[in-house]
Amino acid sequence: MIITEVIAKKRDGLKLSEEEIKFLVNSFVKGEIPDYQMAAFLMAAYIRGMDFAETTYLTKTMMKSGEVLDLSYIPFPKLDKHSTGGVGDKVSLILAPLLASLGVVVPMISGRALAHTGGTLDKLESIPGFKTSFTIEEFKEILEKIGVSIIGQTDEIAPADKKMYALRDKTATVASIPLIASSIMSKKLAEGIDALVLDIKVGSGAFMKEEGEARELAQVMIAIAKGMDKKVKAILTNMDEPLGMSAGNRVEVRESVDVLKGKGPKDVKELTLTLGAQLLSMVNVADLSSALRLEEEAISSGKAYKKWEEMVLYQGGDPESILREDFTEAAFKLDFKAPRGGILQKFDTRKVGLSVTALGAGRFKADDVIDPMAGIIFFKKVGDEVGENEPILQMRTSKADSIGDAIELIKDAIIIGERKPKKPPLIFDVIEQ
Ligand code: URA
Repeated sequence: MIITEVIAKKRDGLKLSEEEIKFLVNSFVKGEIPDYQMAAFLMAAYIRGMDFAETTYLTKTMMKSGEVLDLSYIPFPKLDKHSTGGVGDKVSLILAPLLASLGVVVPMISGRALAHTGGTLDKLESIPGFKTSFTIEEFKEILEKIGVSIIGQTDEIAPADKKMYALRDKTATVASIPLIASSIMSKKLAEGIDALVLDIKVGSGAFMKEEGEARELAQVMIAIAKGMDKKVKAILTNMDEPLGMSAGNRVEVRESVDVLKGKGPKDVKELTLTLGAQLLSMVNVADLSSALRLEEEAISSGKAYKKWEEMVLYQGGDPESILREDFTEAAFKLDFKAPRGGILQKFDTRKVGLSVTALGAGRFKADDVIDPMAGIIFFKKVGDEVGENEPILQMRTSKADSIGDAIELIKDAIIIGERKPKKPPLIFDVIEQ
């Protein structure tokens, strides 16, 4: 097979066969196809799309590019959740230990910051010593001992997604239904889980800006899972404003710990508990309302936080360091003040995410180094009143010269008006198999 012919076929809007997709992905993983040819293919697929059969071939090939874990020897339900990506979305950090504290197992494979959205791995790696790369044997050992581990794609598990994800981030080819669906499902189906809940973000900070597109993405992922006999549900949730009161790396770790300790923002807690309750009910641990109660108890009793401490320790981090004042103490802080008084109407959440990236919390180029301190603390949510010159948010960074670009982005990202805006619900819908 000739790689340029496969790229040209997709460029011209033709359908690819399973053999062609296998050739493309497997040769790329082996290093036989350079990044520039895969980038050309990704752009062609982004623009031309892929039908359901092609998306399924792509997902299966990516899943089988590494080992597909068999955790059936662990006698507890194996659960996971994945978000399509947002700003301030720290739910995985809280939900994984929370669920494990209730006796289920969470073998979570996550990603890094993608485009304007944050990444679970970057957040966790901002904890001094925290490792997100383990061999399969080490991953299984942690799961057997404490029931939870969050790692990245490796050369052994979902290596195709590891390479393609990084390339999509740098080539503006993220917001594509077949590429997102195959990226997420290939790693989730390699985890050896019994049930998965998908948090499909909708709104200005999501890759799917409209509810219709988000529903389509949900349907594609559900259909792929169904074809492989996996239980899955998709929850459509609001990403028209950042989730919680922080976006960045260490600031989000700290906020996650707040929620695990029974404090923290209401929206983060509500979303985390809802996603968790759905998962627990899917494997009959409890019905929805009992599951919510169990989760509340795990937090109030300290069990969930204890599991978090274990997870941080087993992955090489120091949980005590997160509680210290200086954990989030950035060298430079700047309050962004309201140019006029009124009511916060809306955020352009994508621009907020880009501003967080510009401060140093994400990457614009593959070799950009993440600044763990970089981020934004929000003082206001949509619908809140603001006085003229009152701080709406605080920018934080270790690099003073990053603040200029970040401010330019934020200036355009915040709309203040007179009337109380109609706020979308946090949770729009639950889509079942
Ligand atoms: N999360 C993923 O894992 N992949 C994507 O493409 C988008 C969000």
